[in-house]
Amino acid sequence: MELLEVNHLCKTYGSGETAVHALKDVSFSVPKGEYVAVVGESGSGKSTLLNLIGGLDTPTSGKVLIDGKDVFAMKDRELTIFRRRNIGFIFQAFNLIPELTVEQNILFPVLLDYQKPDRAYLEELLTVLNLKDRRKHLPSQLSGGQQQRVALARTLAQNPEIILADEPVAALDPVTAKQVMSDFRKINQDMNISILINIHHVELALEYADRIIGIRAGKIVYDGPSARVDQAVLDAIYGE
Ligand code: ADP
Ligand code: MG
Repeated sequence: MELLEVNHLCKTYGSGETAVHALKDVSFSVPKGEYVAVVGESGSGKSTLLNLIGGLDTPTSGKVLIDGKDVFAMKDRELTIFRRRNIGFIFQAFNLIPELTVEQNILFPVLLDYQKPDRAYLEELLTVLNLKDRRKHLPSQLSGGQQQRVALARTLAQNPEIILADEPVAALDPVTAKQVMSDFRKINQDMNISILINIHHVELALEYADRIIGIRAGKIVYDGPSARVDQAVLDAIYGE
């Protein structure tokens, strides 16, 4: 059984003349531990896909299975708990709480879920993400890259099976963006966590991800190893 299965997913926004077919029969699966980048032009359907996989929106048709569980068959409350315990979301905006320290931000969702914080795991996260000497700092005292690492640590603190990241490096300068992509690689390898990341910069995707899913106008036009992406593939994703 694959960790993630996406089966014939379709999403249409609106209806009639103004209908937008954002996803058109998208299917793929992701085994545990893979680092997948979804690339495509703005408006190609990347965010729609990620939101559906995370159960933040409902499809027009099709299924998403995570660990064999049908995401859209769950009732609201069950889905909320499933999402909290299995899926880690990372967005372009870090959404850190300005009044809380790094450490408090990381533990916040764990405490919200009435779970006991695992101190040893917190220390591991601070070490892996190089935040040990920033634990008492406020978000405003951190660089953009450090803030994104705190967001990543906060997500990891909940022990997700998979991390879904929507354009996490879009707001960062090129050097920091590279660093964040490399942080994702590190936690993917060190902790065997699957990652699905939407990213606009194809060069960064090719450098760090195992696999590329190229999406164009709501359809998958490439799905394969990063190493096999050539000019013809790039033309299929981005060309005229
Ligand atoms: P991407 O993340 O690749 O930029 P999106 O998934 O955000 O693409 O959007 C895919 C298409 O769906 C676009 O044409 C966009 O305008 C449309 N779309 C996205 N969200 C909505 C919405 N809530 N209502 C109507 N159309 C939407
Ligand atoms: Mg988007």
